[in-house]
Amino acid sequence: MTTIEDLKTTYRDLTMLMSALALMGWDQRTYMPDEGANHRAEAFGFIHSDFFKRATSDEVGNMISDLKSPETYGSLSFVEKSMVDKADREYRRAKAIPPELMHRYSVLSTKCEKIWETARKRDDYEMFKPHFKELLSIVKEMTRHYGYEDNPYDALVDNYEPGMTAAKIKAIIYPLRDHLVPLVEDLSRRSKDSGEISMNGHYPANLQKKLFLNVLEVMGFDFSRGRIDETAHPFTTSIGPGDIRISTKYLEHDFTIGLFGTMHECGHGMYEMGYDDEHVYTPVYGPASLGIHESQSLMFENHIGRSLPFLTYFYPKIQEIFPRRLSDISLHDFYRAVNTVRPSLIRIDADEVTYNLHIIIRFELEDAMINDRLEVDDLPAAWNEKYKQYLGIEPPSDADGVLQDVHWSSGMIGYFPTYMLGTLYSAQFYAKAMEDLPNLEEKMTDGDIQPLVDWLREKIHKPGAIYKPEELIERVTGSKPDSKYFIDYITRKFSDLYR
Ligand code: ZN
Repeated sequence: MTTIEDLKTTYRDLTMLMSALALMGWDQRTYMPDEGANHRAEAFGFIHSDFFKRATSDEVGNMISDLKSPETYGSLSFVEKSMVDKADREYRRAKAIPPELMHRYSVLSTKCEKIWETARKRDDYEMFKPHFKELLSIVKEMTRHYGYEDNPYDALVDNYEPGMTAAKIKAIIYPLRDHLVPLVEDLSRRSKDSGEISMNGHYPANLQKKLFLNVLEVMGFDFSRGRIDETAHPFTTSIGPGDIRISTKYLEHDFTIGLFGTMHECGHGMYEMGYDDEHVYTPVYGPASLGIHESQSLMFENHIGRSLPFLTYFYPKIQEIFPRRLSDISLHDFYRAVNTVRPSLIRIDADEVTYNLHIIIRFELEDAMINDRLEVDDLPAAWNEKYKQYLGIEPPSDADGVLQDVHWSSGMIGYFPTYMLGTLYSAQFYAKAMEDLPNLEEKMTDGDIQPLVDWLREKIHKPGAIYKPEELIERVTGSKPDSKYFIDYITRKFSDLYR
């Protein structure tokens, strides 16, 4: 008879292979010499296909259906049921796509991403277009295999944010969009009127390193269970329990990019460090979703890092490290400089207020393409039109417009909303934490963020993937995901800032 222990044994084996892949991936993005790339791709592919074969074997399928049988399933605990449900979802998703289609997808997405790199450099959408067209038609075909009720988009977003649908996203974002467009107009005018503060200067990498280690320490990052390294495109990965890797970059002309990036990755790392040890090597030892993951990084980057209470404590320490450049920039000026609201072309450089408009644009275009309301031929024009409409600016080129992100070129459609959901979830969590911990910001002013970290650990990190994101949010905050908390947060923060 199949028992939950069988599932645990299987997941233990799968986790070991995943761990090898994670370490290889981490090394590839940090220290691997260029010439190692071919071998690494081979080795990675070899282990990955072994992983995939095991994960999609009939043995695993039979085990899951045994565990799903009413009699066995009924005898399981709540957490065990979650384990089986998650394993079932993962199995069905992995099996949904016929191998031949999966192969076409992976060949084409790799090729399309390479072409995108050149097309972006040359600002040449025409070059990218035929390949993206083909890739998009494969992605559409995949949605039919995954299955969906209302909208093929649901089949895609569900991969990153279990339970999320296009209809739910629309219900969340329409009030947000209608609120943000006039707010951005107002704030960017006021931000311009109050004058710009440039942080440009020369900040030696070794001093930045000292500063970033310091901020990680204050934020409670556990160096006995994690480390930080340097990379061109910072990321976080988990090699396994007790081995969480975050990364950062040191830009000598402006330390703030690396500083807030480090806090961001710290938030991702803290989540990975916080899962309940009791569930190690099981399907629920992991994030509830990408949106929840992002909510944790944004909690550390924005709600803590860019807040006045935290900077009141931490800015003097920054000044100590760069005394010459920062001696005549006051706390308030620094606070304003790292919270400037300005419509801009590039998503990854966007501020907290305008960021979600970048995402809303991408979501609306994806939804239109997947539902055949928008042709790939007309994508750049539609992109530019929306930037004009929502942000009041028009991209001068496709390189800084429709070609700026890698996601579409690698077939990732339905991914962008998770960034936005992260901003909304983090505001909703933070509002609840403020309610539960009345002197939270007072303590933050003294550099004590432990009460908040403990709160996040208990409520969000420990459960891991036991709950789907929507359930988790409702359990923690008492209400469903709602953009009003984010709207309240930015309205309060930025009207104070530009009073
Ligand atoms: Zn992130």
